[in-house]
Amino acid sequence: MLPLIYHPVYSDFPLPEGHRYPLQKYRLLFERLQTLALPVRFHQPAPATREVIDAIHDPNYVSQLLEGHLPLVKMRRIGFPWSRALITRSLTSLGGTTLMVDHALRSGFAIHLTGGYHHAHYDFGSGFCLFNDLMIAARHALTQPGVDKVMIIDCDVHHGDGTAALAANHPDIMTFSVHCEKNFPSRKPPSDLDLPLPKGTQDQDYLDAFLPLLDLALAQHRPDMVIYDAGVDVHQDDALGYLSLSANGIYQRDVGVLSRCAYNDIPVAAVIGGGYHDDQHHLVPLHEQLIQAAINAFPATISPLEVS
Ligand SMILES: [Zn+2]
Repeated sequence: MLPLIYHPVYSDFPLPEGHRYPLQKYRLLFERLQTLALPVRFHQPAPATREVIDAIHDPNYVSQLLEGHLPLVKMRRIGFPWSRALITRSLTSLGGTTLMVDHALRSGFAIHLTGGYHHAHYDFGSGFCLFNDLMIAARHALTQPGVDKVMIIDCDVHHGDGTAALAANHPDIMTFSVHCEKNFPSRKPPSDLDLPLPKGTQDQDYLDAFLPLLDLALAQHRPDMVIYDAGVDVHQDDALGYLSLSANGIYQRDVGVLSRCAYNDIPVAAVIGGGYHDDQHHLVPLHEQLIQAAINAFPATISPLEVS
């Protein structure tokens, strides 16, 4: 059965009216998946420990954020008003991050029905990201037996600036960001591999640029595990992205990544990443495709005989 990680608090913290963050999409996606007869099993995480977060972030930043003492200017950069519920949500989702990695190493594949907080840096957050779950996933994976190299493949439309900066001095973590070249964030510290794409890039040009580079990166780096950010804000209708992929183009991208990993016996931990639309119902089928792509790419994982 395909392990899916989810907790109801993912869609539960207060936001001002009209805020751009698609808070309800996590709940909507979970509810939709429950109505389908898919070979999946849901797992609910417990909140992460402080130790997990301090391993990659400035302990002073972490304390200020957890206790509600972060200067207002820094909260504004994150883009959320501080609340106890926001902290509970963040800690629980980081618990989901490590749970996702554990299940992926056991089953070959796991999906976290949130995540992709790639704009969080060592001592500040930005762009709706408090703590960098992709780095936490990579660091957690590296503590597990048989994992010496991890590759973070970030296909969210926005550059993975926080991840690039945090992983800069970690030769065992390779970062690969595929993003729109003219989009948030304005400062883009170099990933190990960056593929900036022009505004308006469509399916075929995207896949022709990305997949051969992915083949090269996998062959050269030979990771023991892949952390995959499958953001759907590359979609042509996205409110915050400037690429022009169709739903089918996103599906081909996901199948391209997952089938290559499956072929090379590389476990994958995937997060659903970004996706923005005034009507959050539009995002559900786009994120749902990732689950379908995983079921098609990792048939062994979903064998009903397998205990996960
Ligand atoms: Zn994004």
